[in-house]
Amino acid sequence: MELKEADRLLEGAELIPAIKTTLPHAKELLEQCLAAEIPAILGRDEGCASGSCGPQVQILIKAEDVRRLSSLLERQWTELAEREGMGAPLQQGPLAEGEEPPCPACGTAAALVNGACSDCGLQLE
Ligand SMILES: [Zn+2]
Repeated sequence: MELKEADRLLEGAELIPAIKTTLPHAKELLEQCLAAEIPAILGRDEGCASGSCGPQVQILIKAEDVRRLSSLLERQWTELAEREGMGAPLQQGPLAEGEEPPCPACGTAAALVNGACSDCGLQLE
């Protein structure tokens, strides 16, 4: 999709600021939005009055496209993470030796007190 077409599609539509970021990054994201057929334009952000935050711009999209944009970004982040070898950052590694497994009820990973969770009292042994 061309920027001109996005402009035309967004004319008169109710736009919401989806992302606020630096100009170079915003331009990059804008191109990716357009490539994914999500009409988007850049908007100025008048937020920081002191100017100490550096110039930032907003990516404006239609409210109904928010979901599409977030799934686009999610896919990118996943790809980026995989490329940089940071895949599945939320997965927990095996417990270190001596570490208590977390309580199935409250998640507390502390030593048991008389065989029971020290936090919620669930009997575990
Ligand atoms: Zn517990």
